Amino acid sequence: MNTPIHQLGRFNHNEIWIKREDLLPFSFGGNKARKAELFWEEIRNGGYDCVVTYGTSISNHCRVIGNLCASRGLPCYIISPAEKSAPTYNSAMTALFGARTTAVPLQAVHDTIENKIRELEKSGNKPYFIEGGGHGNLGTEAYVRCYREIKEFETEHKIHFDYIFLASGTGTTQAGLVCGQLADGAKRQVIGVSIARENPGGREVVLDSVRSYLHAVGRRIPEKRIQEAVVFIDDYIDGGYGSDNVKIRETIEWVLKEYGIPLDATYTGKSFYGMTEYIRRLCVRDRDILFLHTGGTPLFFDALKNAKEG
Ligand SMILES: *Cc1c(COP(=O)(O)O)cnc(C)c1O
Repeated sequence: MNTPIHQLGRFNHNEIWIKREDLLPFSFGGNKARKAELFWEEIRNGGYDCVVTYGTSISNHCRVIGNLCASRGLPCYIISPAEKSAPTYNSAMTALFGARTTAVPLQAVHDTIENKIRELEKSGNKPYFIEGGGHGNLGTEAYVRCYREIKEFETEHKIHFDYIFLASGTGTTQAGLVCGQLADGAKRQVIGVSIARENPGGREVVLDSVRSYLHAVGRRIPEKRIQEAVVFIDDYIDGGYGSDNVKIRETIEWVLKEYGIPLDATYTGKSFYGMTEYIRRLCVRDRDILFLHTGGTPLFFDALKNAKEG
């Protein structure tokens, strides 16, 4: 089932469209739900009997994987960096799903994951490991498929998106869209709005994901084209995860009031704000622009609650 794409409205002489990954029909949707579908295929086909993954208390990934495991009856083990951050709706749901979370200092995360996997294997289990955020070629593949949905929509509605904007974290989602674009050669710019990582490192991670996926599927693309296709902007990080910026808060309120669509302060609010700033600053005009709503709806409620109480 393709997620809906619909027109949002005009912004500075451009037509803004939105693809609603937040409406994917499992566990509040979002890009982690799309990635989880492919992880589940591998878990089922490989006969795995438990899952080990990684994430913080705000993690949409941990909520979706926790939900997946609960609904399929698999134990779920989450290694989490010990942090000061308060519980969130995501962490509350993750706990409700019965995921077993181990919090350790950040520098101990890697070893703790390895030990957990080894321990499970020793006791006769077959654990399936998922990188934090669903990072990796399978996560990238999920967004190559999403790109195909976008293409289908364009063909069907005789439209061409000149830009696709999205929130970029581990970069897997962006890498998938870029790989899709490299495959079809469409003239457009996919723009990842960084929500935490700075350049040049942030962009390098996306490039690595692109190269890794292309290598895995045996597709040769000249490095120059790959370099051109990966645009990762770090102008709107503003304190990284869960920052509290007035401009972002105003954007969230505006989009909710005007269009009835929830955005959150960590991912989609930040990237939507980044998109409008980019359009303004670079005087983008007369374009069809697609915003990929990557989900994270529970985080919208965290921000709402904090705004009311704070
Ligand atoms: C995880 C997440 C992202 C970032 O996805 P990556 O593939 O890690 O770049 C963006 N938006 C939301 C809502 C997310 O949960």
